[in-house]
Amino acid sequence: MKANKFFDPQLLSKYNTSGPRYTSYPTALEFHDEFSEQDFIQAVEDSPNRELSLYVHIPFCHSLCYYCGCNKVITRHRDKADTYLEYLAQEISSRAEFFTDYTVKQLHWGGGTPSFLTHKQITKLVSLLKEKFTFADHVEMSIEIDPREIEMNLADHLFDLGFNRISIGVQDIDRKVQETINRVQSTEFIGNFIGHAKNVGFKSINIDLIYGLPHQTIETFTKTLNIAHQWDVDRISLFSYAHLPSRFAAQRKLRDEWLPNVQQKFALMKLAIEKLCAFGYDFIGMDHFAKPDDELSIAQKEGTLHRNFQGYTTKGGCDLLGLGVSSISNIGTSFSQNVKDLKTYYQAIESKENVQEKGVSLSQDDVIRGEVIRELMCNLSVNKNDINKKYNIDFDQYFIDDLPLLTTFIEDELVENSKNFIRVEQKARLLIRIICMSFDAYMKQHINQQRFSRVI
Ligand code: SF4
Repeated sequence: MKANKFFDPQLLSKYNTSGPRYTSYPTALEFHDEFSEQDFIQAVEDSPNRELSLYVHIPFCHSLCYYCGCNKVITRHRDKADTYLEYLAQEISSRAEFFTDYTVKQLHWGGGTPSFLTHKQITKLVSLLKEKFTFADHVEMSIEIDPREIEMNLADHLFDLGFNRISIGVQDIDRKVQETINRVQSTEFIGNFIGHAKNVGFKSINIDLIYGLPHQTIETFTKTLNIAHQWDVDRISLFSYAHLPSRFAAQRKLRDEWLPNVQQKFALMKLAIEKLCAFGYDFIGMDHFAKPDDELSIAQKEGTLHRNFQGYTTKGGCDLLGLGVSSISNIGTSFSQNVKDLKTYYQAIESKENVQEKGVSLSQDDVIRGEVIRELMCNLSVNKNDINKKYNIDFDQYFIDDLPLLTTFIEDELVENSKNFIRVEQKARLLIRIICMSFDAYMKQHINQQRFSRVI
């Protein structure tokens, strides 16, 4: 894939503003505390889906990475995970009762650091999930791995338990960058671990990289990308570091003057996209790269790519059940989120109260707009006829107040609005979330757009 079609530096800088990543529509800002347990149960009953994607949140990390914006608990005490797993087990048991007629097609463990768990704890959690839910024969099981503080045989253990995808947080291999972000890890170990995981049988390995970190330069990031190429992984997620120190206290340790400026950050992003495309990866959505024969690439080519809280996925027809502190569920036409604080989570489970602190039941308008935004995010186009038939509307009439917001993009030849389609040009791929904001009915209420990260 030629990378230069994704760039027009002038247009990128013109539209380099803040906007949601649209892992959901409406975004989590619209979740409210009036969403009740009964709303959740009703959503399960009303959902047309009977396939399930499970997300399990493990909040613990051994040490704090200063760039991090995740919900996590820093601790050296592994026994804290034993306590957590006891409470989590109660949530799993009580939630599973509502999903007896569902089949689990996908299981993902995120965090925090799921690899914080010991082998014994991992086995226990997998066994419990398999006991309480019905798993499909060919279930996709993935886990995020922090390559520090793990042993090589973690790969064997995970594979034996049925995990078939691993995702490793690499971010950057440069020592100075790593020291500044407080995440020093061995490149050699990561390479060996990836090689070992392949030998064990893992067919899908992802690594995460971040551009825009302190002290990153074209030279250092070139080395990171070249090493990533040598590892020959199936997928690479390339994230832009979002510096929001007012929201994430740890980021205050990263001084502004250490960060690349906008031009330097743009150059890092351009470098990464050009190199990853030259290495033979397909550019998926706005931040993923996958080998052409990977399921994500195939789904993108076939127009079946989907998006949820974990990013791009091929499992579109599944309800998503989040388990654990701060996890998010998407059941039928509802979104809901568990309490974010560990102590509150434990208290809620002890007193058999609702562990969800907020959520939203979608209106028909939310559903329609959500589908339009998802189609644009995943497939860079919307078929108006499909939307009309599905929701019995006249697209142009329905979005009469929103379509004029596309004018600036149309004038810059980034978007085409024809009788039957809205199509986004490849050179606007990186701006897709800014374009999607045109269809976001809530955006007009959000004066403080800075709650969201910038495109680059
Ligand atoms: S980046 Fe990952 S390992 Fe680091 S603090 Fe955040 S959740 Fe933990």
